[in-house]
Amino acid sequence: MSKPKQKLSRNQLACIAAIICICGALLAVVIPKFVQARKTAIVNACINYLTQIDGAKEQWAFEHHAKIGDVVKTNDIAPDLYKGKIPNCPDGGIYTINPIGSNPVCSIPGHSL
Ligand SMILES: [Zn+2]
Repeated sequence: MSKPKQKLSRNQLACIAAIICICGALLAVVIPKFVQARKTAIVNACINYLTQIDGAKEQWAFEHHAKIGDVVKTNDIAPDLYKGKIPNCPDGGIYTINPIGSNPVCSIPGHSL
């Protein structure tokens, strides 16, 4: 014997529709917040890397009695950085170290010290 099919009442259908609407509204609010939080985290990570590069430049300049405008090479500061290399921008930007006295920059707008 098969079970008889149960039909949903109007109230049950209205309740299910309300729950779906509430879930949709919550997702519409939460998903953009997550996306924005992820973008902010990426920018902060890039700025952190630029700060580390700048610190390594300052250390190199102090150790080598460098003057403002002296050119620093990647190999000069890489040993002072994590894992002995220049970090990569988490958003795919390219870092320009710049001479002593100028901040290092990332090629992506908004990623700056
Ligand atoms: Zn960057």
